[in-house]
Amino acid sequence: MFNRSLKRHAEPKDSVRFPRRHLAIAASTLIALGVSLLMLPGENAEAKRTAIPLNLDLTPRAAIESPAEETYAFTEPEQEWLEMEVRPGDSLSSIFSRAKLTPQDLHELISTAKKTKALNTIRPGQKLGFQVDDNGKLSAMSLQIDKLNSLVYERGVTGFTTTEVSETPEVRQRVASATITSSLYKAAQDAGVNQSIIMELANIFGGVLDFVYDVRKNDYFIVIYEELYLNGEHLGSGQILAAQYFNQGDSFEAYRYINKEGDVDYFSERGESMRKAFLRAPLDFTRISSRFDPKRLHPVFKTVRPHRGIDYAASRGTPVYAAGDGRVQEAGYSKANGNYVFIKHGEAYVTKYLHLHKRAVSKGERVRQRETIGWVGSTGYATGPHLHYEFLMNGVHRNPATIVDKLPPPTKVSQAAMPDFLSQISGLQLQLRTYAAQRNYGSEG
Ligand SMILES: [Zn+2]
Repeated sequence: MFNRSLKRHAEPKDSVRFPRRHLAIAASTLIALGVSLLMLPGENAEAKRTAIPLNLDLTPRAAIESPAEETYAFTEPEQEWLEMEVRPGDSLSSIFSRAKLTPQDLHELISTAKKTKALNTIRPGQKLGFQVDDNGKLSAMSLQIDKLNSLVYERGVTGFTTTEVSETPEVRQRVASATITSSLYKAAQDAGVNQSIIMELANIFGGVLDFVYDVRKNDYFIVIYEELYLNGEHLGSGQILAAQYFNQGDSFEAYRYINKEGDVDYFSERGESMRKAFLRAPLDFTRISSRFDPKRLHPVFKTVRPHRGIDYAASRGTPVYAAGDGRVQEAGYSKANGNYVFIKHGEAYVTKYLHLHKRAVSKGERVRQRETIGWVGSTGYATGPHLHYEFLMNGVHRNPATIVDKLPPPTKVSQAAMPDFLSQISGLQLQLRTYAAQRNYGSEG
């Protein structure tokens, strides 16, 4: 981080970030000019000619010659940043003493600078930079907030001033594709797509595909997404812009669309929202280990008991999500259900989640789709850690795996916004088509 900061000082655009230094340079340039002006009113040409060399003896050359101004800041030894990293157990005062700065420096900084809250929450690995003046006093300090953001505190006449320094990452588009051999997760890994993109992909298609039960061998996907870079360093992945999933002869497309109001959502090529009223599975597909056998003999009753839901086997502690927006109808414990949560969605629907290790919500609470309501466990009558999930419509149990398709259609891009939508997605759509054609994707479908 601060290696970059150091490098940045040589770049002209950074003059904005370090206004004080440049004021100082400007001032010394003015003084130098002043000195030479004082020299100039000589009585003959001889004096004029000598005026400048004489002046150069008094003032550093770099301060006069403006093209060298930027390198002045860079080569000036006092301006180097002393870089420090926060260690476990560090406090700001321990870091200050390691940097050979006094408690008074710290006090002056804290008591005069704005935005010092970030200094109270330093964490191991975070980077700080210090600049010290000729007397060993703190003249500037920088604090890395994250890879893109820092705060710079600089000593002024009346105390420290605070500047927020932000870097804008370079965004590069990447297209990746993979064929499923064992799992979506594995396929995406093979394609060099990181986990956050896989999860996002599963979230986007979560309303039309059940990544536990629907995904089959030889399915494939194409995803166009952003990769973020800063000075050549890869920072991580950005947003998915478009994706296409080929599932056993069906193809699903999703496009990121920002409407005139600035709302962002994913839509099919027909402008239907990918977000459904209910998730197909109320937990992360990557955490589900297998289908839990509902026909097993009950360990307590030694009989096959009627089963009115889906069981998802997952390790203890796996987060369980609210399948849709709603309000917690019941949250409690019973001998059979263990820790359970029931959620009411509008007038007609109720979803139930049983055998939770712990509950994260209480009765009456509002919940949003994909909000964690508890964690997978084996409380109550359960042979092992799993989530028992039920879906009721008007009080009648429905198959959670198929009910989602029978619910009202998703919201659409408005008729008025359709031209804007189509123009936003056309380039991406062409990219997907071209990519699929090059690889013969979908042609056998
Ligand atoms: Zn069950």
